[in-house]
Amino acid sequence: MKRLANRTCLVTGAAEGIGLATAKRLAEEGSKVLITDIDPKKGSVAAEQLIGQGLHVRFFEHDVADRAAWERAINAARDFGGCLNVLVNNAGIAISGNIENCSLEDWQRTLKVNLDGVFHGMQLGISAMKDAGGCIINLASIEGFLGEPMAASYNASKGAVRILSKSAAVHCAKAGYGIRINCVYPGFVDTPLVAHALANVPPEQALAMQTKVISRTPLGRMAHPSEIANVITFLASDQASYITGSDLMVDGGWTAG
Ligand code: NAD
Repeated sequence: MKRLANRTCLVTGAAEGIGLATAKRLAEEGSKVLITDIDPKKGSVAAEQLIGQGLHVRFFEHDVADRAAWERAINAARDFGGCLNVLVNNAGIAISGNIENCSLEDWQRTLKVNLDGVFHGMQLGISAMKDAGGCIINLASIEGFLGEPMAASYNASKGAVRILSKSAAVHCAKAGYGIRINCVYPGFVDTPLVAHALANVPPEQALAMQTKVISRTPLGRMAHPSEIANVITFLASDQASYITGSDLMVDGGWTAG
């Protein structure tokens, strides 16, 4: 029996990167997966790719910063699978800038997507799941634990996702909803997000950044998106039935020493 048979999942920001790898793993475990993303072109291509592999997925255009779009996305998941069992709040952006040069616009945009997006998703997701139970997994980052000078707004957004997840997890547990909420903290993962960050700096700086990441990571490499997806799939499954409000580091040992 597959671990997520008869479940319906919604994964945000799933047109590429960690979200796409997660949608694939959740679907391989037998669930129906609604892939949502702000980019309809990439999202549709991703969904077609997975459907071509025999997986039960559907694409839905969705900006996580938009509350009304969230309501439509949750309805679309219920239309697709009959209910909503698993929500993965994956969509996120990273805009470079330190505390002195981060513009107010970049700060607000980052928080709108990375934090407000998770707030809307959890609030509406809990409302959709609280009668039958379910599971929410939020993508934070090691940068929600450790300060990085050039990631002021990103640091703030991911640190807030961490503690908001704990607050919601304890609330749901005490209310007896049968909803588990956990946070996953990737280290550096080989995705378009990292590729864009490297492409936006001069080549010698990009090389220095890559060298620093690899030498600073005890396992000596970046993660593959599937390595994050595997952990999310475990948290979504009944094998993680006693885990809620937890911090799961998937960082190759970065924060261990
Ligand atoms: P990515 O940039 O490769 O993919 C992100 C996806 O989100 C894209 O398809 C993009 O179109 C979509 N998206 C962007 N804004 C959106 C919005 N407003 N609404 C809906 N979709 C939107 O990113 P990734 O590297 O796969 O990262 C996924 C998550 O993991 C993010 O929350 C990120 O902060 C987190 N994370 C990534 C890394 C890493 O090294 N890649 C490390 C730690 C945490």
